[in-house]
Amino acid sequence: MRGGLASCPASRPGQTEGRSMTSPAKTRRFLVADDDAQVLDAYGRVFADLVASTAGNGEDFDALSAELFGEGAATPDSEALIGDVVYCRQGEQAVSQVENALARGEPFAIAFIDMRMPPGIDGLETARRIRALDPNVNLVIVTGYSDHKPSEIALAIGRPEKLFYLLKPFDVSELRQLATALAHRWSCDNAVTDELALRVAELERLNAQLKASEAKAQEFARMDALTGLPNRMGLSERLQNDTHAVEGTDRQLSVLYLDLDRFKDVNDSLGHPVGDELICQFAARIREAVGDDGFAARLGGDEFAVISLDRGAIEGVVKRLLAGATEPYTMGGHVVLTSVSIGIAHSAPGRPHLVEAMRQADIALYAAKAAGRGVALEFVPSMERDILGAQRLAGDLAEAIRSDRLELYYQPLVGADGIPISSVEALLRWNHPERGFIAPMVFIEAAEKADLIRELGAWVIRRAFRDARHWPDLVTSINLSPSQLRAPDFIDELAKLVAEMSVDPTMFEFEVTESVLIDDVETAARQIRSLKDMGFKISLDDFGSGYAGLAYLSRIPFDKMKIDRSFVFNVGVAEGAEGVIRSIVGLGLALGLSITAEGVEHAAQHQVLQSAGCHNMQGFLFHRPLPVDETLRAINCGRLKIAS
Ligand code: C2E
Ligand code: CA
Ligand code: CA
Repeated sequence: MRGGLASCPASRPGQTEGRSMTSPAKTRRFLVADDDAQVLDAYGRVFADLVASTAGNGEDFDALSAELFGEGAATPDSEALIGDVVYCRQGEQAVSQVENALARGEPFAIAFIDMRMPPGIDGLETARRIRALDPNVNLVIVTGYSDHKPSEIALAIGRPEKLFYLLKPFDVSELRQLATALAHRWSCDNAVTDELALRVAELERLNAQLKASEAKAQEFARMDALTGLPNRMGLSERLQNDTHAVEGTDRQLSVLYLDLDRFKDVNDSLGHPVGDELICQFAARIREAVGDDGFAARLGGDEFAVISLDRGAIEGVVKRLLAGATEPYTMGGHVVLTSVSIGIAHSAPGRPHLVEAMRQADIALYAAKAAGRGVALEFVPSMERDILGAQRLAGDLAEAIRSDRLELYYQPLVGADGIPISSVEALLRWNHPERGFIAPMVFIEAAEKADLIRELGAWVIRRAFRDARHWPDLVTSINLSPSQLRAPDFIDELAKLVAEMSVDPTMFEFEVTESVLIDDVETAARQIRSLKDMGFKISLDDFGSGYAGLAYLSRIPFDKMKIDRSFVFNVGVAEGAEGVIRSIVGLGLALGLSITAEGVEHAAQHQVLQSAGCHNMQGFLFHRPLPVDETLRAINCGRLKIAS
């Protein structure tokens, strides 16, 4: 029978190979390779016996299992210990059986391999090849005498934990026991492997999921969540690409920086949700204005950027942006009007310098804001000097406010006849450590631009409240800047300060200019009414210098009007100046306002103003703005004059 091949469904050698109907995972298939027909026959009897004892009677197997592995060790699949047994008489045949079995998905649980199987390959080689094909099969090397040392065999075959030895001649029960134990073990290993495979599959699924969400995250990292526009990161990637596209060509890279005007006011007064909505609507308008002519991104807050490689298209884009931004925005019952300031920079043709272009666009934006908002300016080098100067000034000013290095001077106002001091006006003074006294017009404008004006204004009010304790019977007037008055928390903060410093509001007057009314009459009127309700007086400063219509005069409850210096200056200089003064005074009187003339420097001016009916005079002819101690002296001196 040498060289022959036999197979049987767990029965005897010589019968044809059969298939078990159980699932591959449960079917324990045995492979026996031995060149000796008698030995194969012996195997057959043992296995047939084993099948007989377990096929119809699981309890037997359970009992055996329990005997071998302890109570509770019975496998759930004990009804079929052996699916089938394949008998081979040569190593090569055994190897190809393993190969076929694996291909069908019905691997062997155990392979019993005789060590010597002439004329073909020996057991060691057979085992080695089988192991190479199937790492899970339990290999039992059956040997009569040691041709090889076990350590050598283990080394050659691998997976020593699945390698066993059976010495010939073996006892039937020995074979039974080994077959049972290894079949059981194979099932357990398989269960573990299956479980592992499930886990691996699950892990792979999770990994794929992770990769997908990573890709999403990457996309999100480049996108602004609020507007859906690319963000700073998205922009800088695009800029890198565009830079490469332009290099060495005659094309130019243009960068636009955009900033929504007065966004902070909208955000502060109408709340963040409205602010966010404004940003979104504005972003949509940018998208529309830019179209295919460029790439738009949100840099943060109300700042956006547009880049373009089409220099010729920029003018059109800018026009559309400026026009689009000024269309009214409707948001949950609010209609907001605003505009956009734009800074523009172009890189040199073919030599795009990214950082430089962005810096220049930023400077141009700053200049556009300073130029009065709602405009687009192209970068020119002189902007840089202006801005550096302004930035330094703003920095120094912030420092001066925080370290209390500002001062208030007070300019006494006198009655129409020029004698009794009726009130004092607080005027800011800043003695810059290097530049000396800086005109308040200059640094107040810097404060406006650098968003320092509210802080500065708060400092002035606190200081004026404190200084006024020196002249409790005189009214002190305080200048208010428009943005200070517009701030939503202005009234509340002021009320707190009044309580904290025990101030009598009727002894203070706030001076506001017409520009307050031009920007937003409703808010100004509301705030002014609140100030009046608290007891403060309100005077309209620099009357005639602004462009506001006269209609507001009757809508806002002013107490006083101050005729702008320029009209006073014209007296005796320009023809008709007197007539103008008379009609202004007439208007003020008709409205029931107290009238002050500013900038009175000469006796002739005084005379004209007095005869026109002005109630109070302010000017160098009477008093210059003075530090606190000198103000006190002037007040006392005036009292002495009256008394004498
Ligand atoms: P203003 O409110 O019209 O203040 C009067 C200005 O006229 C003061 O200039 C004062 O020194 C000047 N002046 C007074 N009499 C005469 C005169 O006879 N002839 C001439 N040529 N000028 C005279 P100052 O102190 O330089 O202030 C300029 C402006 O700065 C102020 O104009 C006011 O708008 C603003 N300002 C000053 N202090 C403050 C402040 O605390 N807060 C705010 N928001 N603005 C202030
Ligand atoms: Ca004033
Ligand atoms: Ca004035």
